[in-house]
Amino acid sequence: MRIVNIHLRLLEYPLETPFYPAWLPGYPQTAHRVHLLTLETDEGIKGYAAGVAFMREGSGLQQLLMPFLFGRDPMQVEEVVQIARSATFLGLRLWWIEMAFWDIIGKAVGQPVYRLLGGYQERVKAYASTGELQSPEQRLDYIAEIYQMGIRAVKLRFHHWDWREDLKVAEAVRLRYPDIEIMVDANMGWRVAGMAPAPQWDVATAAQVAQALAELGARWLEEPLDKHDYEGYRRLREKSPIPIASGEMNQDLHEFREYLTRDALDVLQPDVALSGGILTGKKIAAMAEAFGKQVAPHLGLMGWDSPRTCS
Ligand SMILES: [Mg+2]
Repeated sequence: MRIVNIHLRLLEYPLETPFYPAWLPGYPQTAHRVHLLTLETDEGIKGYAAGVAFMREGSGLQQLLMPFLFGRDPMQVEEVVQIARSATFLGLRLWWIEMAFWDIIGKAVGQPVYRLLGGYQERVKAYASTGELQSPEQRLDYIAEIYQMGIRAVKLRFHHWDWREDLKVAEAVRLRYPDIEIMVDANMGWRVAGMAPAPQWDVATAAQVAQALAELGARWLEEPLDKHDYEGYRRLREKSPIPIASGEMNQDLHEFREYLTRDALDVLQPDVALSGGILTGKKIAAMAEAFGKQVAPHLGLMGWDSPRTCS
């Protein structure tokens, strides 16, 4: 089986109302865009993969991929990972294209990919995420909706200039819903500043937040420091009474090795579209298992603050 057709499209749909992501202060998002890659084999099997797009930065990507992917055996995923690794030399993050190969393999053998990877259950525990900074009252309205749907875990955003403002939301949620699991994401692993001032914590501040969250029984504190500050994460973990999570924007094996050998995290969060593909995600999970760490794969889905989507 060979790849004989490669097609890349930019898909865009406008949002009904602007979305203000907590991780992009000052940025009103008005549309959701993805690159959609379609690979077709000589047996007529189509494999799809989607990668994040902000504007039209993917123009030219189809021509770039053509000589690397045309004629390739879609079963050779290890080599696809090498191609994506090579693209990082150009500053490109193309790990997501690897998913199209798994899509082809799954269709070729008539099995879902999770089974090809050895998975043995169709259900996993999920939490509802949030995206915007909201008042305690607004956030409680959202949680009332997801609670009705049976969801008992939620991830809150901490990104106010003063984290004590964020804490008010978490306290309100804990007070109203003693039985709900709370996770907190500070989104400082890949902090975006420039459109508006963005908060940045040091280890001491992150430790203070972790202490306050421990009193609310929080499940984890996510990305309180830069994604490459492995030493900072190590020092924080020594002080934190709750688990520390990170890794959604870290890449490839070596960055996760840094977290593991430094004993710097409790929960690794590789994202197969951003961190190395499905194959590398499986390898990272194996490393984490060897170090006795948990893995909660990251996944970005549009629909935050709406009960339509969990992530
Ligand atoms: Mg996150």
